[in-house]
Amino acid sequence: MSNLPAVAAAIKKSQRLLLCGHVMPDGDSLGSVLALGLGLRWLGKDVTIVSSDPIPELYQFLPGIDTVLVGEVPQQPYDLLVAVDCSVPERLGKALEPVLKSNLPIAVIDHHVNDRPFGQYNYVRTAAAATGEIIMDLLDMLQVPISMELAVNLYTAIVTDTGSFRYENTTSDTHNRAARLLACGIPVARLSNQIFGEQPLASLKLLEVALGTLKVSPCGQIAWLSISQSQIKSVGACEQHIEGLINYPRKIKGVELAIVFRELDERLVKVSFRSKYRVNVNLLAGKFGGGGHVRAAGCTVSGSLDQVQAMVLHEAQELMRGDSGGRHS
Ligand code: 5GP
Ligand code: MN
Ligand code: MN
Repeated sequence: MSNLPAVAAAIKKSQRLLLCGHVMPDGDSLGSVLALGLGLRWLGKDVTIVSSDPIPELYQFLPGIDTVLVGEVPQQPYDLLVAVDCSVPERLGKALEPVLKSNLPIAVIDHHVNDRPFGQYNYVRTAAAATGEIIMDLLDMLQVPISMELAVNLYTAIVTDTGSFRYENTTSDTHNRAARLLACGIPVARLSNQIFGEQPLASLKLLEVALGTLKVSPCGQIAWLSISQSQIKSVGACEQHIEGLINYPRKIKGVELAIVFRELDERLVKVSFRSKYRVNVNLLAGKFGGGGHVRAAGCTVSGSLDQVQAMVLHEAQELMRGDSGGRHS
């Protein structure tokens, strides 16, 4: 079964629900899982929310965030696992591995490109700018009123995945939903500042180091940053301070494809891709076992920083060469 009413029905008939978003959680993953969690608690359900990875400082303001268990799933019976903003089970992370081996039924609610979602109940809407948009529909279906706390989480999901309503995924529907959330009285200026206007000092120190690695291809259309573990440590930064760095190579005029290479350890590199108008980065990430969306995707590749960079840039250049769309003005 793969429709939203089927997912809603599965949730309705479950009492003990386990909710989880993806590793290295972002605003959509956290906002979606919290809005759903708070909504289901309002309905009287027993809700456990788990994140395999720590919650970035940036999102500590989200209502309900203190109820998220990090890195552990309490051993108790559950009726249903609801996976949000995750296209593959691996994206749920280590904490969920034992659960995935059990027979617990899974409902997947997602907006990533995906031929074969991994749940018994699946709802994937790639046209949704954020999973948070789908959660709004689900909450409506479950007749949960949108409280201020829910609205803050849903708005955060939408505003982060659309880059403040600037990315291609932004539609009139996205704005209509945002309008509805604003009508709930959310403090929109404060939220924008908390999400986009302020950064920990470590993020800026890391930016300084990262910009020193900035490279642009001879054609001027590919730009990338490479960040090693020693660079991250040298400024006292950590994983969460890397979010947003990809916007810098992306900002360069004439650049179509921006890439960030991040060393996870000596043998593993996380690669993030963003494109502006033409390159399908979901395909590019897919070549390395990853995925995502047409304009934002990622993958985790085995090899040293240098090796992975060489392999990925080779594929990226091939893709750019095969791109018959030509240069945009
Ligand atoms: P980011 O570059 O911000 O980590 O991720 C960009 C998009 O690509 C997100 O929608 C994210 O879900 C997806 N993505 C990032 N890394 C991976 C990965 O390793 N595997 C898959 N399937 N998707 C990823
Ligand atoms: Mn996400
Ligand atoms: Mn998302």
